Amino acid sequence: MPTHLVWLRNDLRLHDNLALAAACRNSKAQVLAVFIATPGQWHQHAMAPRQAWFIQQHVNALQEALAQKGIVLTVLETDSFADCPGELKKFCKEHEVDALFYNYQYEFNERQRDAAVEKALGGEVVCQGFDDSVMLSPGSVTTGNNSMYKVFTPFSKAFLRRLQDDVPQCLRAPSVREGGPLSKPASQTFNYPQQAVDGALFPVGEEAALQRLRQFCRQAAKDYPEQRDFPAREGTSLLSPYLAIGVLSARQCLNRLLAEQPRALHGEGGAVWLNELVWREFYRHLLTYYPALCRHQPFVGWTKRVTWRDDAQALKAWQQGKTGYPIVDAAMRQLNETGWMHNRLRMVVASFLVKDLLIDWREGERYFISQLVDGDLAANNGGWQWAASTGTDAAPYFRIFNPTTQGQRFDADGEFIRRWLPELEPVPGKAIHEPWGWADKHGQQLDYPRPIVDHKQARAATLAAYEAARKE
Ligand SMILES: Cc1cc2nc3c(=O)[nH]c(=O)nc-3n(C[C@H](O)[C@H](O)[C@H](O)COP(=O)(O)OP(=O)(O)OC[C@H]3O[C@@H](n4cnc5c(N)ncnc54)[C@H](O)[C@@H]3O)c2cc1C
Repeated sequence: MPTHLVWLRNDLRLHDNLALAAACRNSKAQVLAVFIATPGQWHQHAMAPRQAWFIQQHVNALQEALAQKGIVLTVLETDSFADCPGELKKFCKEHEVDALFYNYQYEFNERQRDAAVEKALGGEVVCQGFDDSVMLSPGSVTTGNNSMYKVFTPFSKAFLRRLQDDVPQCLRAPSVREGGPLSKPASQTFNYPQQAVDGALFPVGEEAALQRLRQFCRQAAKDYPEQRDFPAREGTSLLSPYLAIGVLSARQCLNRLLAEQPRALHGEGGAVWLNELVWREFYRHLLTYYPALCRHQPFVGWTKRVTWRDDAQALKAWQQGKTGYPIVDAAMRQLNETGWMHNRLRMVVASFLVKDLLIDWREGERYFISQLVDGDLAANNGGWQWAASTGTDAAPYFRIFNPTTQGQRFDADGEFIRRWLPELEPVPGKAIHEPWGWADKHGQQLDYPRPIVDHKQARAATLAAYEAARKE
């Protein structure tokens, strides 16, 4: 009887899991599963303790779900990716594994690790990888001369045309193996700092994620264009933590959306939400073409020459939500307290760090990863490089958000700001966006900092720094 091993990584689900389905295809094979925790590597990547907790919970849940299917999921722990080849070799030998199945990860270190594993297993174990975390494989959506798109809009158009021709279908969860269900395994804990995530915000489990997806696609996906930019409303799906660790697949999102909104592929109901999923794909495809993106390099070469300010105090004020700009501070408190931040606010706070404080975007990128429950290298790097104008964005570097008018536009009555900055409670109505103006006028003292920079002056200094780098 052949023995198949499925190596689970950021694909912690039973349904529509390409590697798991392939490992189970031969009903006569014995199927085993393994997950390898790598705390040393996670430290190096600054993974958020909330994301580690979320992974831990889903590994435990999956262990139980797989046991119901008659599949043992073994959790191993090594320090770093460099130890994975040896661990897997040992495991395969002990269990007489014939074939290893896994879903690709596109980040640089992960790809190196997988190449080393395949090499270590030699010809003894047949290895098979799958493009599971994307709707369409990297390399399959290219320009006329076979290269990767460098700008999102033409990529998105080509991507949607491909989907219109052929929608990738979802696979079922595997059926119960011949030996029947197994008893409930004991759960384990990784040797990595963990912080629990608010269960009302992000309930644990594949079923919870699927339920949220179903509910969102029914109506909210249609209302998304009008709702998505206002952080006080629940206008977005809140599915990112599940997509980031693979509790949900992009194909499941696509198929569910089309079941509820059949015209989404043709620019109607749900199309704007679908476009966000295409952004996710774009950044993943980019990583495979430009591995330097995983190695702290900007996409646009000349931006390497921007002289960043080294200002530990300003960086700390930004991290702690104490910049004196209410929308920025409320957003950073949301991040620090929940591990998640609304997309409009990610753009605002990223612009503020880079374009108002002139602090290196990589500081922000790393801080986000250290806090986010949905931390994802491709999307995070893409978002930061977009905000810093060092990436693929078509907009020029002189697009600089004004943090006050962003607050006035997207949180006009200050509902979101008041939720996260209770110290601004005395400030009435729209004055919340410039609290010190109101306090000085009314002779009030606030337990809230004055703005740490003057936006107008900061903007001019940033433009000068970018201009100098471009001309150099
Ligand atoms: C500076 C910055 C950093 C970011 N870091 C991350 C990150 O680490 N992880 C992450 O998943 N997203 C990141 N994003 C993208 C986006 O902000 C989040 O995906 C979104 O806020 C998640 O909320 P949601 O699930 O309700 O999204 P929805 O609006 O419901 O979108 C659905 C899904 O599409 C994907 N998506 C949406 N917008 C984007 C985008 N701009 N780029 C890539 N994918 C997108 C996400 O998987 C999301 O769950 C970042 C954006 C910026 C500007």
